[in-house]
Amino acid sequence: MPRATTKDYYQILGVSENADEAAIKKAYRKLAKRYHPDANPDNPSAAERFKEVSEAYSVLSDSGKRRQYDRMRRFTPFDDFAATAGDEERRGFSFDDLGGIGDIFSSIFDFGRGRKKQAATRGRDVEHSVEVDFRTAARGGHITINVPVTEECATCDGSGARTGTSTTRCPECGGTGAKSFGQGDFAINRPCPACFGRGEIATDPCPSCRGTGQVTSQRSVNLRVPAGVETGSRVRMSGMGERGPGGGPPGDLDIKFEVKKDRFFRRRGLDVYCTVPINIAQATLGSKLRVRTVDGKRVVLRIPPGTSSGTKFRIPKMGVEKDGRIGDQYVEVKIVVPEVLDERSRELIRELAEKQGIKY
Ligand SMILES: [Zn+2]
Ligand SMILES: [Zn+2]
Repeated sequence: MPRATTKDYYQILGVSENADEAAIKKAYRKLAKRYHPDANPDNPSAAERFKEVSEAYSVLSDSGKRRQYDRMRRFTPFDDFAATAGDEERRGFSFDDLGGIGDIFSSIFDFGRGRKKQAATRGRDVEHSVEVDFRTAARGGHITINVPVTEECATCDGSGARTGTSTTRCPECGGTGAKSFGQGDFAINRPCPACFGRGEIATDPCPSCRGTGQVTSQRSVNLRVPAGVETGSRVRMSGMGERGPGGGPPGDLDIKFEVKKDRFFRRRGLDVYCTVPINIAQATLGSKLRVRTVDGKRVVLRIPPGTSSGTKFRIPKMGVEKDGRIGDQYVEVKIVVPEVLDERSRELIRELAEKQGIKY
């Protein structure tokens, strides 16, 4: 089956984007006559063209459908549009089930759903970054987060009009929903700021969304942080995204983790490293140290006599937990020399130096 048409209805009818109803009708009549199957009994490509022309006319001659088409045509990269529309073609053309194109439209521009009577489509996914502290990331836990979600206003179903009132064609964009900014080759189309890309404005705006058709709210979400998450790890929460326009299923919430740096712990693979300062006496004579661990407790670490700076001690199973495995904690001791010693301490150190034949 031929993949019909480039889907540029204006091109198919050979008219400009600004062509009025009469010009479209005239172009259609001319082409329909030329490609009519009766006039071309042995020419299958003419039949195909006839079908295209009829389809183009059915959309462009209906002001509502034409407005929708114009909006999508402007906001949708043409290749994507053609690819998506191909499937619609096989089932018989209907704007009501062009959900796919609507999605492209709304994902390119983060607002303005474009269609007043919204067919039920799936809500958009919401992406959100979450900061977690080092210990929660290492061992997992639960945190409560607030996610800003912008979605179709539930009061007016996204129309922007107060319940029971109507909308009128937007005077700013003439109902296309798009405005051209810039000039010549640099002109770009953007959703019309007056009607938020809908092409229609409310005569009496909905009080909940002030006529925008969308509301932003903070959604409180209790989030389970899996043990072992790293910066960049993701968790998808099904059905926690935006509500689906027209009663469609909600989108997902896509959580991206960012693990905060810790002043004490560093992570390498599943192991956790930390540095603990000790003084010369502890290093020389040995000592017991109380060391923090990622599970929030402290363990006592025995430092043997004669420990050098940089020596590492391992605390088993006090590292990061992940997929049933668990790392270790490494404690590196660092000898810190006190800057000021009292006279008695100095004397003792001097004695030690003399005993070892050190010149100072
Ligand atoms: Zn509203
Ligand atoms: Zn407008």
